[in-house]
Amino acid sequence: MQTIKAAVCRAFGEPLVIEDIQIAPPKSDEVEVTLDAVAICHSDISFAGGAWGGHLPAVYGHEAAGIITAVGDSAGEFQVGDPVVVTLIRACGSCPSCAGGKPTVCETPYDKVNGPLRTADGGPLEQAMACGAFAEKVVVSHRQIVKIPQSMPKDVASLLSCGVITGVGAAVNAAGLRPGQDVVVIGAGGVGLNAIQGARIAGARRIVAVDMTEEKLAIAKDFGATHGVLADQKAPWKAAYKALGGRGADAVLITVGAIPAYDQAPRYLGPGGKAVMIGMPHSGDMASYEPVVLAALGQGLIGSKMGDVVIQRDIPWMIDLYDQGRLKLDELISGRWSLSQINEAIEDTKTGSAKRNVIVFDRD
Ligand SMILES: [Zn+2]
Ligand SMILES: [Zn+2]
Repeated sequence: MQTIKAAVCRAFGEPLVIEDIQIAPPKSDEVEVTLDAVAICHSDISFAGGAWGGHLPAVYGHEAAGIITAVGDSAGEFQVGDPVVVTLIRACGSCPSCAGGKPTVCETPYDKVNGPLRTADGGPLEQAMACGAFAEKVVVSHRQIVKIPQSMPKDVASLLSCGVITGVGAAVNAAGLRPGQDVVVIGAGGVGLNAIQGARIAGARRIVAVDMTEEKLAIAKDFGATHGVLADQKAPWKAAYKALGGRGADAVLITVGAIPAYDQAPRYLGPGGKAVMIGMPHSGDMASYEPVVLAALGQGLIGSKMGDVVIQRDIPWMIDLYDQGRLKLDELISGRWSLSQINEAIEDTKTGSAKRNVIVFDRD
C-alpha cells in the first residue's frame, strides 16, 4: 500500500476532508494512474450530497487524466509512462451488455468498498464510481482508460472522461441524429453544451437550447445552438416550435436533473421524435407524461448512460475532432483549482454558472 492525499467524503452534505489515504498496487488487469487533472462533475456533487446513497467514507471524482505509473501483468497494451484519460466505465468485456456493444451498462458487479482504497488506519474506503479520482492516484481496470497524445494538456483531456462523451455520445449514439434533423437540448451546462456540439457534429439542421438565463443561451450559441429559448416562460415548447418552423423536434436531449424538464420534454417532440434522458435526477424523483400522445405520434422515451459510448472507439475520434478545431474543449473550462481548494471549486460549480472546474495536481 502507498499513502496518497485525497479529498474524502466523511458525511453527506459536509465539506470534503483532505487526508492521507492508502491505495493498493494494481491487480493483474489494473493500472495505477498518477493524476494531473480531475474535473468536478455534478454527479460528484450529487453523490457527496447523499442524493444516491452509497457507503461512507468515500472518494468521489471520475473525470480524470494522468500518466500510468504502474501496470498489472495483463493490463492490455498499456505501459508505464502512457498518458491516459480515466473514466468510470468499468466494463467486464464479456457480459451480455458488454458483448452487445453497450459497456456503459455492464452487468458484472464491482465491489467498490473492497476496491484498492483504505483509510490511513486501514478501514474501508469506497472507491466511488470505480474511480476515486479526487486523489493523487487511482487504480482502475485497464478497460476504463484510453491513451491520449503526449501533447494533449491533461486538464483539457480530463473533460473527455465524462461530460464530453456523455453529451456528444447522447447526440450521436443514443439519439442517433442524422444530418438535417432538428434537436432541442434542455440545459446548457457541462453536459448540455456537449450535447449541443454533438448535434452540430452530427449535422443537425436546427439546434434549440433551452435554459434559464440569456447568458447561458449565449454560451450555447458559441457551442453550436442555432436558437435559444428561456425555460422560465409559460409553455417554452411553443417558442421552440416557432424556432423549428412550426414543427416539434426529432429529438430532445434532457441534460439536467430537474424534474420539470422531464415532465415537459415530450412536449417538444414532433411525430416520431425521441426524448433522451441524460441528466441524473435524485433517486426516487418521478416524472409524468401522457402515454396516448407518445403512442399516437410514434414517439419514444429512452435513457442514455455516459452517452452510450464505447470509450476505445469514441474518445480517439473526439480527440481528432478537437485537434481539427471541430470539438471545443478548452472553452469548457471555467476555472483551475488545487486539491486543497476542492470545496471552493465545488461551491463555485453549485452556483450553476461554472462550466467545468478542474482540479490540477502539482507534480514533484
Ligand atoms: Zn460525470
Ligand atoms: Zn460487462
